[in-house]
Amino acid sequence: MSIPNLEYKWITTTDELKALSTQWETGGFLCVDTEFHREKTFYPQLALLQVNSDGQNFLIEPDIAKQTPKFLALFSNASITKVFHSASEDCEVLYRALGIKISSLFDTQIAAAYLGSRNGIGYAALVTELTGTELAKGETRSDWMIRPLSNQQEVYAAADVHYLRDIFIAQQKLIQQQPHLIAWIDEDSDATAQRVDDLDNIEDAYLDIKNGWKLNKQQLIRLNALCQWREKIARQSDRPKPFVLRNEVIFELAEKGLVEKGGVEKERADNSRVGDSSKESVSKLSLPFIKGWHPASLRRHGTALLELLAQLDYEQDELTQPLSPEFWQKLTAKMQNIKAAIEQVANQLNIPSDVICSRKLQRQYVAYLLNDKNQKPRGWTKSREQHIGPVIKSVIE
Ligand SMILES: [Zn+2]
Repeated sequence: MSIPNLEYKWITTTDELKALSTQWETGGFLCVDTEFHREKTFYPQLALLQVNSDGQNFLIEPDIAKQTPKFLALFSNASITKVFHSASEDCEVLYRALGIKISSLFDTQIAAAYLGSRNGIGYAALVTELTGTELAKGETRSDWMIRPLSNQQEVYAAADVHYLRDIFIAQQKLIQQQPHLIAWIDEDSDATAQRVDDLDNIEDAYLDIKNGWKLNKQQLIRLNALCQWREKIARQSDRPKPFVLRNEVIFELAEKGLVEKGGVEKERADNSRVGDSSKESVSKLSLPFIKGWHPASLRRHGTALLELLAQLDYEQDELTQPLSPEFWQKLTAKMQNIKAAIEQVANQLNIPSDVICSRKLQRQYVAYLLNDKNQKPRGWTKSREQHIGPVIKSVIE
């Protein structure tokens, strides 16, 4: 497998990008990809933008993109289709780095699933499947922030949009033969783009913590407070959430709460030192001992967490309970009926059943129907409401 000799052009001035954007805004479609890093930061760092238009590949410096409003406006222009492969992370990166919210998104990974490829198929595999071209194993792990990029990196980056165009064109032909798929693909792509609206919804963060259903009301209030605190600190310090506090530590802190100083925890001198505070209300309390809590995290955040937990209001309204395994156990028979009914719809529409409604989405929708405190899931599109909603409702109600 060799690296093909692709042509590409660097865009390093706003004038060039502005001129190109004027051409691009006349309609049609743009194939887009991004390279970014997020290993050591909360916010993803945009390192490179790639665009293919009419078969021409462009490598765009993020700073130049940021300073070219005409280019940014293309992403909200509904008359131009933006083609991505597996767009969810790109959507987040573009939203964070450039304030972009994408309309008229077409995700080739989503389209591939509807057209019968493996659900979640990777870019290189889809290129091979639809065009026969074998791509060289990538540069995914390389440093995209450095300049200049190596020739190999540049070619790799260009290939990410070059064949995206071929994929899109091939998929358009396939979709023409099954036009009923258009709405499904568009709506799922759209839902992916809309998810950026949830990025800063920190109120539901505690629902993602494993085993949250085991906690009682008080513990759940602590879990919620700790999760919201972590979301804020991660953003303020631009550190990944586990760097601030790991999920296991959050769970155990919520479970145990504060302990009386000099009680069972008195030998844990380290923790009680961190727990010292001049405030009278908290002076008798300290953090519990938690195995595996990194000393650096404890030192940095111990005092703040002690104060946070000491000042919690336990009289607040009851939080949405995370759903327990028992909840689902009671519904086993109904969930099986739902699964069978969905398979029938899937057969009628000639769409794979895990694509038409994944198990996760089935559960989210059932949870929403049974408990109005649960949000209607993002992925519950018009087409699902129309074709699958009645099926699930008739089993549940
Ligand atoms: Zn890429």
